[in-house]
Amino acid sequence: MHSAIKRTLEVVERRNHSEPVFLQAVHEVLETLGPVVEEHPEIADLNLLERLCEPERQIIFRVVWKDDAGNVQVNRGFRTEFNSVLGPYKGGLRFHPTVNMGVIKFLGFEQIFKNSLTGLNIGGGKGGADFDPKGKSDDEVMRFCQAFMSELFRHIGHRRDVPAGDIGVGAREIGYLFGQYKKLTNSYELGVITGKGVSWGGSQGRTEATGFGAVYFAEEIMQAAGDSLEGKSCVISGSGNVALYALRKLNDLGATVVACSDSSGAIFDPKGIDFSALRLIKEVERERIEKYCEIHPSASFRPKAKVWDIPCDAAFPCATQNELEVDDARKLVQNGCKLVCEGANMPCTPEAIKVFHQAKIPFGPGKAANAGGVAVSALEMQQNAGLEHWPFDRVDEELRRIMRGIHTSCLHYADKYQASGNYVAGANIGGFLRVAEAMMCHGLI
Ligand code: GLU
Repeated sequence: MHSAIKRTLEVVERRNHSEPVFLQAVHEVLETLGPVVEEHPEIADLNLLERLCEPERQIIFRVVWKDDAGNVQVNRGFRTEFNSVLGPYKGGLRFHPTVNMGVIKFLGFEQIFKNSLTGLNIGGGKGGADFDPKGKSDDEVMRFCQAFMSELFRHIGHRRDVPAGDIGVGAREIGYLFGQYKKLTNSYELGVITGKGVSWGGSQGRTEATGFGAVYFAEEIMQAAGDSLEGKSCVISGSGNVALYALRKLNDLGATVVACSDSSGAIFDPKGIDFSALRLIKEVERERIEKYCEIHPSASFRPKAKVWDIPCDAAFPCATQNELEVDDARKLVQNGCKLVCEGANMPCTPEAIKVFHQAKIPFGPGKAANAGGVAVSALEMQQNAGLEHWPFDRVDEELRRIMRGIHTSCLHYADKYQASGNYVAGANIGGFLRVAEAMMCHGLI
């Protein structure tokens, strides 16, 4: 390992010893940068790696709100403004009980490279709260969002920091957050947040973008291997926004998705899962996935099960970090899986990725494969700035072009730095080089 990488990892580990997922994300990136650091001694001279691993700013705040029973509740809110060298901080908000500073830092760190790979002018940031939206009434969610924004508003702005959704934050929450921002600032600053409703400044295609983008990326991988997704049997973990729209695009491309999941278990349907029915249950009714089986007799529910032991040609982890472990990876390989493409952020553990690489199964890492969401967020910002509304087809065409470009970059940089076909190395190096170059141009700040 290059001495500059080794030294940086030691410092980062000492400084962030209580944040394992953040350390995992840093290791995964830095360990692939050896040949680049070798070629460019100025990276070490300018201590660029250590600078990159330290967020520019971190905000932690108290969020106080009242539940429907009249109890006063306290949550913790976060925003990591990680790197603004390519543009305003950009990244979603996650509302989930597991959220802490380490989780937000891992997501913010990933976001720097992901956003860089899109080729657009967006920096890296992430935020959220340890609030659990599950089981909360609509009024409670609204009051929480208002309380959360009552602090966050002073840190964000369309040229400063632009939040969006992530796990637990969808169109409903974005609406409440924007409404409170507008009230507090007395200004209609559309570009301050993305993922807005299409009728009031959102972009066509943003809802679909992350899932569609992940499937476009998978299709590029298949094409590079002389194959396609048509006729393939697929499994998807999760049934949130990313999973749902990956399912829809896979169906469009002639693939069959035989399994999906949520935190209660998995559904298996050899006939293929019906997008509209699942969307209604998860997005509209906000019900458990088991309900799908009540109206689809060919489907069965597996309580507490994962989807990885179901034989498939392609696997799409679209739920959450570290959900696909080494034994799951071995099962997929044994069952003849030909492709793994991450729709979520860091859903495969490093040991699982090693299994895929050893088995020579193409593996699309999240920071490349799921960049479609944030890319269309940037297109939303562009439309807002120009007071424009693009039709769905135009956004979808741009998304396709961006995903194709990311795929080409990954292969190019993997090839150039002695890691042919390794999308992890290619994504890390491609994302890093653009950020590093800009950091050098901006001086020691
Ligand atoms: N949360 C999404 C991500 O992980 C989207 C962020 C955004 O649209 O800004 O990339």
